[in-house]
Amino acid sequence: MNMDKDKQIAILSKLISIKSVNDNEAEVADYIESLFKPYEDQGVQIDRVQYAPGRDNLVVTIGSGDKMLGFSGHEDVVSEGDASQWSSDPFKATIKDGKLYGRGAADMKSGLAALIIAMIDMLDNHNVPGKIRLLCTVGEETGEYGAAQLTKEGYADGLAGLIIAEPGNSMTEIGYTSKGVIDYIVTSIGKQAHSSQPQNGINAIDHLVDFATQVKPLMAKFDKVNPILGKLTHVQSVFQGGSQINSVPAKAIIKGNIRTIPEYPNQVVFDALNKLVADLNQKPGYDLSIRYSFPEEAMPGDKDAPLIKLMEKVHDEIFDGPVKAIGQSGASDGSEFLHGKGDFAIAEIGPGNNTQHQTDENVEVDVFHKSVEFYKQVAQEFFAD
Ligand SMILES: [Zn+2]
Repeated sequence: MNMDKDKQIAILSKLISIKSVNDNEAEVADYIESLFKPYEDQGVQIDRVQYAPGRDNLVVTIGSGDKMLGFSGHEDVVSEGDASQWSSDPFKATIKDGKLYGRGAADMKSGLAALIIAMIDMLDNHNVPGKIRLLCTVGEETGEYGAAQLTKEGYADGLAGLIIAEPGNSMTEIGYTSKGVIDYIVTSIGKQAHSSQPQNGINAIDHLVDFATQVKPLMAKFDKVNPILGKLTHVQSVFQGGSQINSVPAKAIIKGNIRTIPEYPNQVVFDALNKLVADLNQKPGYDLSIRYSFPEEAMPGDKDAPLIKLMEKVHDEIFDGPVKAIGQSGASDGSEFLHGKGDFAIAEIGPGNNTQHQTDENVEVDVFHKSVEFYKQVAQEFFAD
């Protein structure tokens, strides 16, 4: 028997009630673990992988066989912002006019709940079609380090396909390729002196300006065009330096954001940036250093991969409207999981709509319920051939 709709809503509501704003994912893991515990006699395997105290990734593996399908969702949500701007309590699921409101309703506790419910239905019906692994992650919104940890520890090895239930514009878009991200921070160190005696100081801003002007044409050389994702982009987004108008500045910082494409592995971009910094440091008095925070590789993908084709077919059978395979400009856990051993397609589709990260975030209740059917049927057919 399949889980009734009230119970499905209860699971989603419980997940939303857990405040896992870039932290406290262990409570989400506790709850998910409690849902699968009763099935341990069916060979369900539960692994908790702690990232930090109070922050647990969770891996639930059901079924058996050589071929393994991955399901994935993140346990964290972004901040609710100013709660008084919400029409209802962001951590209390509230249904109105066919929509369920709450932080994470779209991104992505609805997707996570739907994957969990799909797996429980398979267990209840003794109809698990093959080995299915649910990867629940911490910290997706702040650097995908949960997915990085699970990948490093081998949990993504041997996957034959991976479905990530990130919001897919109400199940109308399948993301199969995405841009990568490189955030760089360059610090220039100089020497303070009175501005009337500049010869006694070293101007950190002057040196950083050299970097800033040279990095632009350097990044523009990465000019290949990906047919889906377009070009690599580069924006210098933060520039700070100096402290006083009559002092030679001793320190200056620039931050930049690069969105990469699969044609350029991140290492190629790192090499170019590192070389520019090293070359500038050859000049007398220059002291520049560069570091990177949470870089993500671009996710290559093939819209004709069997998994994508299968999802399009199943989508046709369950939903009325069409589905579109798309490229995404932002990174997700997929950028980490793709480093798992083996060659597998990654597809991102979930019931969440485009209200993610916003006030009054919501999910269409009907789309949420249908997404459960969608994931179940995709899994069944995935193992059929
Ligand atoms: Zn998300």
